[in-house]
Amino acid sequence: MIVNTYFCGMQDFIKQLPQLAKDKHTENKKFFAKLKKKPPKNLDLVMEELHTKEFERTDCLTCGNCCKTTGPLFTDKDVDRIAKHLKMKSVDFEKQYLRNDDDGDFVLQSVPCVFLGIDNYCSIYDVRPKACQEFPHTDRKKFQQIASLTMKNIEICPAAFNIVEKMKEKLQLSHKTNRRQ
Ligand code: SF4
Ligand code: SF4
Repeated sequence: MIVNTYFCGMQDFIKQLPQLAKDKHTENKKFFAKLKKKPPKNLDLVMEELHTKEFERTDCLTCGNCCKTTGPLFTDKDVDRIAKHLKMKSVDFEKQYLRNDDDGDFVLQSVPCVFLGIDNYCSIYDVRPKACQEFPHTDRKKFQQIASLTMKNIEICPAAFNIVEKMKEKLQLSHKTNRRQ
């Protein structure tokens, strides 16, 4: 099931996502287990295509749910770059905006992210953390390696949810094609 946000409003879709992800949990778990066991040779290419197509139709500015609900990890490089942009010392930036999570990583003190505007624009977009640049990681190479993370991301990211649905459809199709050959 691919949710078309033009017919079902983005906010409604976001509200439904945790339940939709729950409903798909067993199916997705089995799918990713199979994918990990035997990833198709063209997986990187398939993911790149699915990611590009999805983000042609999904406008993050109508969503912002990742920035509102989770927030990224900040690497030391992220901290230095953003602090410099804000003309702050890195240590002051850390004190003002960040805390250490249970794993000792830097995360936001609170969500929604303090840098998210009411129009869903990021006020530090050009220097935003690498994790923000890469989210929801659906175009990364060897996608099968981030199955657990993706299972979590589809609970909050409408685009990731749709990409995984499309991915299941597409990879099933290619299996059928292979059997005919
Ligand atoms: S830094 Fe920007 S992109 Fe990252 S969570 Fe905050 S508002 Fe979103
Ligand atoms: S990356 Fe996903 S959760 Fe974040 S704003 Fe875009 S569609 Fe929404």
